[in-house]
Amino acid sequence: MMPLYRMNSLASLIMELRILFGRIRLTKLEIQILEQQFPYYARLSEKHKREFREKLAVILTTKSFMGRGGLRIVTSEMKILIGATMVMVTFGWKDLRLPHFSKILIYPDTYYSTISRQYHRGEVNPKHGIIVMSWNCFQEGLENVNDGVNLGIHEVAHALKLENQIHYNGESRFFNPGVYNSFQKLAAIEVENIKAGNLTVFRSSAGLNGDEFFAIALEAFFEKPQEFFDYNPALYGTLAGLMRQDPRVWIRK
Ligand SMILES: [Zn+2]
Repeated sequence: MMPLYRMNSLASLIMELRILFGRIRLTKLEIQILEQQFPYYARLSEKHKREFREKLAVILTTKSFMGRGGLRIVTSEMKILIGATMVMVTFGWKDLRLPHFSKILIYPDTYYSTISRQYHRGEVNPKHGIIVMSWNCFQEGLENVNDGVNLGIHEVAHALKLENQIHYNGESRFFNPGVYNSFQKLAAIEVENIKAGNLTVFRSSAGLNGDEFFAIALEAFFEKPQEFFDYNPALYGTLAGLMRQDPRVWIRK
C-alpha cells in the first residue's frame, strides 16, 4: 500500500486513489520513448518493466515540470526521460517518490545564477523543493551511458540524499542506517584519495565533499558499475546495499 500523505485537498485524494488502483498509465508513445532512449528500462524483464512504468506514471502525475530561461514547451520526452531517471535511482524501494522535490525546472542549456555568479548545469534547491536541470546537459548525460557522467543521475542523487534527511513529509530515513554508516566511512577514504590526486574511478570533483562524492559515485554506479566494482568492491557492495539494487545485473545482459 502506498502511504496516503498530502491528502489536504479533494484533488490530491482523487489522485492518490487513481494511483492506488493503477488507473494512471503511460501512453504508447511514452513507452516507446522509454524503450528507445532509456537503456536501463529496455534491459529490464517484462515484470520489472511494468513496475517501472507504474512508478513513472506516479512521478509524472505528482511532479510539476516547468520550462525556464526561454524554454516554452516542456515536451513529453523531457518529462519521460527526467522522470525515468528518478525511477531508476529509486527503483530499489517499493514506493519512494521524493515528495519534497515536487518541482522540476528545465532550462534549455546552462544557465547563469545571480547568486553564485556562475553558469550552472543543474542544481537542487531543498528550501523550495526544486530540482533544476539544463536539458542540453541532461541529454549529453544520456548520449553516452557508459562514461560515468550523467547530470540527471547527479541531481536526483542530491535530492535523494536530502530527502532521506527530511523528517516531516512521510518519506525519510529510508537509507538503512548501518549500511549508510559503512558507506560514509568508505566514502571518506575515497574523498581523501581523490584530494591526494590519486587516480580513482570517480572524476576529481567527487573530492569536494561528501555530497558531491555521493552524487558522482551514483553516476559511476549506474553508468559503469563493473569498472566501479573492480576498482573498489567493498564500496560498490555497500552502495548496492544502500540503493537496494545492483546495476551490474542489467549491464551484463
Ligand atoms: Zn553536485
